[in-house]
Amino acid sequence: MLAIEGLSCRYNKITAVKGVSLEVKEGELVTLIGANGAGKTTTLRALSGLVRDLDGRIVFEGEDITGAPPRDIIARGIAHCPEGRRVFPYMTVEENLEMGAYLRQTGNGINSDMERVYEQFPVLKERRKQAAGTLSGGEQQMLAIGRALMSRPKLILFDEPSLGLAPNIVQKTFGIISEICRQGTTVLMVEQNAYGALGMCHRSYLLESGEVVLTGTGSDMLDNPHVREAYLGG
Ligand code: ATP
Repeated sequence: MLAIEGLSCRYNKITAVKGVSLEVKEGELVTLIGANGAGKTTTLRALSGLVRDLDGRIVFEGEDITGAPPRDIIARGIAHCPEGRRVFPYMTVEENLEMGAYLRQTGNGINSDMERVYEQFPVLKERRKQAAGTLSGGEQQMLAIGRALMSRPKLILFDEPSLGLAPNIVQKTFGIISEICRQGTTVLMVEQNAYGALGMCHRSYLLESGEVVLTGTGSDMLDNPHVREAYLGG
């Protein structure tokens, strides 16, 4: 479904991503793990058309989307659930969800999709008239996921969904992401929580200093001595 070939990304003189190649097959849940600053977020931003200075190729469903603007990428079926959630704090829950559907040509289906999001996250229905900025961190994460689902994506990019959440909410969030994949949406997820990410994915890539240094199934990576030593506390 998605292939990244030799992707390099620069910010002025810094090369944040250096020749990354990876692929995600339809129906897979693939994670990108690595330390702070390894280039994980930059890789996702490049996929969403948010990095201008890049080399390499990004192919989605057989078409080259390298350098395409963000709205084209969303329209092709790639949604981005960003780091830090980035909900619109002064808008209500309902308005935030509507923003997720802003590229639809018509209003058809928006209400039924919103109802589906409310079924999955009943707390959002209870709070639908409340400003998003007043929600708890976990609720804001649910809203960010719901907003991404509103564009009816084929592929969702999750950036560090566990960041800043209490451990029980992290488990809940990972459970929801696994369920989204089981229901047919392909997932590429960036996580610093290597243990959680490797436990739930089909395959994973480890990034270090902007390069892919290891790839394998979640269980292979959990057993890898370097991963254990450097990312799982031995
Ligand atoms: P984190 O978990 O901290 O987000 P990451 O693996 O996602 O880490 P990136 O955010 O992609 O890493 O950053 C990779 C490198 O690019 C880092 O050295 C970072 O300082 C640099 N970088 C990221 N964004 C910018 C920017 N807007 N301008 C300049 N340098 C940047």
